[in-house]
Amino acid sequence: MTHLYYDDDADLSIIQGRKVAVIGYGSQGHAHALSLRDSGVDVRVGLAEGSKSKAKAEAEGLRVLPVAEAAEEADLIMILTPDQVQAKVYAESIADHLKAGDALFFGHGFNIRYGFIKPPADVDVALVAPKGPGHIVRREFEAGRGVPDLIAVEQDASGKAKELALSYAKAIGGTRAGVIETTFTEETETDLFGEQAVLCGGASQLIQYGFETLTEAGYKPEIAYFEVLHELKLIVDLMVEGGIAKQRWSVSDTAEFGDYVSGPRVIDAHVKENMKEVLKDIQDGTFAKRFMDDQANGGKEFLELRKKGEDHPIEATGRELRKLFSWIKQNDDYTEGSVAR
Ligand code: NDP
Ligand code: MG
Ligand code: MG
Repeated sequence: MTHLYYDDDADLSIIQGRKVAVIGYGSQGHAHALSLRDSGVDVRVGLAEGSKSKAKAEAEGLRVLPVAEAAEEADLIMILTPDQVQAKVYAESIADHLKAGDALFFGHGFNIRYGFIKPPADVDVALVAPKGPGHIVRREFEAGRGVPDLIAVEQDASGKAKELALSYAKAIGGTRAGVIETTFTEETETDLFGEQAVLCGGASQLIQYGFETLTEAGYKPEIAYFEVLHELKLIVDLMVEGGIAKQRWSVSDTAEFGDYVSGPRVIDAHVKENMKEVLKDIQDGTFAKRFMDDQANGGKEFLELRKKGEDHPIEATGRELRKLFSWIKQNDDYTEGSVAR
């Protein structure tokens, strides 16, 4: 069993002795900046001129500076802008402000793993990656709990980069839940694989096919929505609590038998071969190149695919149904049915 680090393994005073700049105030950025501040850390937020998030950060009482000024002031810089803009932000506004002994932190290893950012040798380079969406990271911290983090050290110039990463993880609630040490390569490749094959790509496609199969056979879209999307959360909650076994224990014997006989018919061995192909594209950089090349082209493919996803009939059905669900909390940051965000 791999080693897990908890609150007692991390010294909060290390991060409390640093000047931290959180670059970006989106999903992860707001969670890190606010929880660092609440943990007694000297934090400032770095944003581009004319940034949409500036007002939000200032409304929380945070100091907001242009990225270059935040990077100059700080001795620990956590880059939490979207992955595709990090190399540009780093080159234009961070690289020149790194001093020997500074630390450069990431929430995901993408830009280091694929070489889009190459930091100088005299700074610590580390990763603190919460294994959950930023809004949950913050919600759990405020509830006195935390989301598990991965930490990794790519470059240990100070000889104390791991202690620093653990201290940072403690300040955002990670060590309350448990922290696992990994490498930038392992974090990046497994994160991309998980989101592409199972969590986002796999699950989304599975739900869409299920919805299409039922509605094309003439069943009501609302019933199909409940069966293939809404109930998924309840099933996944059981899996998180007690593994696949607990889910099978809780459902009816009919459902459990159907799971055994039909699961492997739907997700057959061919799917595993496809997963291996996806993993290969992640490992050899094919996916990273496709993503970054498209970004350089204005994100044309990305925006087309996003539009196609939002136009799928399951979204319109869900939009109407969810208006009837008073218990589903609407997220302020997310506007339904709009491609522009
Ligand atoms: P977001 O898309 O939520 O980040 C948006 C923020 O970045 C906004 O404040 C935005 O400002 C700012 N930003 C965008 N472009 C620039 C720029 N050129 N210069 C300065 N600021 C800019 O990012 P995420 O939180 O999703 O991801 C951040 C990092 O965390 C990534 O490395 C990601 O892989 C990682 N991660 C994300 C998770 C998540 O939950 N989303 C989970 C774990 C890791 P504005 O408002 O002006 O647009
Ligand atoms: Mg990811
Ligand atoms: Mg049922």
